[in-house]
Amino acid sequence: MKCIFKLSLLFLTILFVACNIKQPQKAMEQKTELVFPKGNKITNNNFTGTAWLQMLINNDSTYNTSIGNVTFEPKARTNWHKHPGGQILLVTDGQGYYQEKGKPAQFLNKGDVAKIPPDAEHWHGAAIESRLTHIAISPNTDKGSVVWLQPVTEEEYSQSTK
Ligand code: MN
Repeated sequence: MKCIFKLSLLFLTILFVACNIKQPQKAMEQKTELVFPKGNKITNNNFTGTAWLQMLINNDSTYNTSIGNVTFEPKARTNWHKHPGGQILLVTDGQGYYQEKGKPAQFLNKGDVAKIPPDAEHWHGAAIESRLTHIAISPNTDKGSVVWLQPVTEEEYSQSTK
């Protein structure tokens, strides 16, 4: 009997310690805060899946630059498109892809930077099982604004994200 009591006590102690070890991790996960607002759901046809946009800088004739914070739900992506003045992506959260036509897709992780050459046909978006948030900087808008093309098909997306 005494042995069973001791074993139970040991079991309860282990359980108590295990529960208390787990808690700080949980607290850290919950601490993830947005730096910039998620903005509004994008409702145009230039995207596949659900994406969100918060404009941070609207284009003007002094800076010729527009900056937006874009969040893609898993599998969401832009259509193929090109920027006459090029584009720079700063990945602030999650994982996803950037692909230039005819080249392998580039995997994007939080902290990555993608430099997109002027007029290069490309798409960007989330990974299959992760959201992607990036800041999209579009400079040289005096050279023209974004040219939207056809959607990235399911086949193209699954090929690129293999
Ligand atoms: Mn782009």
